[in-house]
Amino acid sequence: MAMNSICRSLRRCAGALLFLWAGAAQADETTKLVYAQSGELPIILSAPHGGKLEIPDVPPRVGTGLKRQPGGFVVTRDTNTEELALQVAAAIEARFGKKPYLVVARSHRRFMDPNREPAAAYEHPAAKRVYDEYHETLTRYCRDVQKKYRQGLLLDLHGQSASKETVYRGTKHGLTVTLLRERFGEQAHSGADSLFGRLKSLGWKVHPDPHDGKEQSGFTGGFIVQTYGSHQGFGIDAIQLEFGGGVRFLSGPRGKTASVLTTAVADYAVRYLDWKLPPVTEAPAAASTGEKSLDVAVYRGTGASASRDVLIKALRSRPGLNVRDVSADEIRDGKLQGARVLIHPGGSGSGQGKALGEEGRRIVRDFVKEGGGYVGVCAGAYLATCDYDWSLHILDAKVVDRQHWNRGFGTVEVSLSPQGRQLLAVNRDRVSIYYHQGPLLAPAENPDIPDYDALARFETEIVKNGAPAGVMHGTTAMTQSVFHKGRVFCFSPHPERTDGLEPILIRAIRWAAHDE
Ligand SMILES: [Zn+2]
Repeated sequence: MAMNSICRSLRRCAGALLFLWAGAAQADETTKLVYAQSGELPIILSAPHGGKLEIPDVPPRVGTGLKRQPGGFVVTRDTNTEELALQVAAAIEARFGKKPYLVVARSHRRFMDPNREPAAAYEHPAAKRVYDEYHETLTRYCRDVQKKYRQGLLLDLHGQSASKETVYRGTKHGLTVTLLRERFGEQAHSGADSLFGRLKSLGWKVHPDPHDGKEQSGFTGGFIVQTYGSHQGFGIDAIQLEFGGGVRFLSGPRGKTASVLTTAVADYAVRYLDWKLPPVTEAPAAASTGEKSLDVAVYRGTGASASRDVLIKALRSRPGLNVRDVSADEIRDGKLQGARVLIHPGGSGSGQGKALGEEGRRIVRDFVKEGGGYVGVCAGAYLATCDYDWSLHILDAKVVDRQHWNRGFGTVEVSLSPQGRQLLAVNRDRVSIYYHQGPLLAPAENPDIPDYDALARFETEIVKNGAPAGVMHGTTAMTQSVFHKGRVFCFSPHPERTDGLEPILIRAIRWAAHDE
């Protein structure tokens, strides 16, 4: 359909422009050799060795008189620790709705090493300026945390090549976490509920293990934790983490590393920093106040499961949304009028589709045609497809392996496309999300319906009740598409039933309402 293809090209153009604009905004940042982010939590992240950039006019260091050994003169960088630090910061922000402090050296270690005392760190005045900026920023952030919170945690992130899967702890054998040990005892440093104890219970191979053993020579904690640790005057407990290549090189494992570390930091914060964790994170879009609230109708009745209550609760906890119920009868009676978005929740797609009947389905289709938004979750995604006589035919998708729809439930991993990360404001390649027999989507190639954009695909599988292995992997988990003047967003899995992922549902609703 000509109209649709114009819509589609316009949308793609807009996407490309947005992408270019984001690139231009970043260009200024990349010229900076120290990346710094002021925080809103007593957590400070430091990554001194992941940088790739040259410092203009500065020759590589030669290290005259310095010993070429771990802890001495080293010019190789800790590959991917810059990316890791940004991902950890994003995961912490996604979990708490607040930013941690972050200092990242973007210059290559060949020119300057922030994790050494000045005499062994640089050999050129221009490199000294970058070094000073790194430490002035870190000092300012530590003072800030001390003033506001009286205590805090600094994590200095590194990479090592001694063991691929191991993460080494460096605290100068407990010295840089003196305050933690004084306040909470040795267990807080080396027990099961210490940061490394939690990381181990979350599946990491850590050293030392047992945690009261000796820290590995070469990884016992460098200049940064020795300068800012709580044996000094800042009141900040500082821990160096040395990651193996297996958990930092590839974006998938790195995302998982960031997410596990965030969980352990959250536990640490509750135990030792006296935090009350927010039950859910705040969506940036929902945080603004004073804007007109958005009329969101949620289908109620035959085919909607108890998961609908969880969905309603997640939506009602947000400012800016006016959430109301709408039944199949009410849809047929014209009660969709005024709604910006219609949500079909989890349950049974055929149940909901048959309850709407042919008349109700036509009204929903017209609602979207005229510019309304449609958000389908699980059963609501089945309902949007063009694969059943009871479905809405507003999403150009078929359902893969229809016969094994009851393939079970549990947490799965999905990977997000760059477009998906941008639209949903997720700074990770992958997220874990609760799945409950949602559709495995694939393009239906229906010429009358615009193609969808796959924003997420399944990376892991659920294969129960005779469902074959290898089918779910790679199918589409989240879609974004247009239908005439309206917008359609579908989730096969359940963001509303995944702790911390409710904000992506809100983003999808706002996108469907043309309200980004
Ligand atoms: Zn390092």
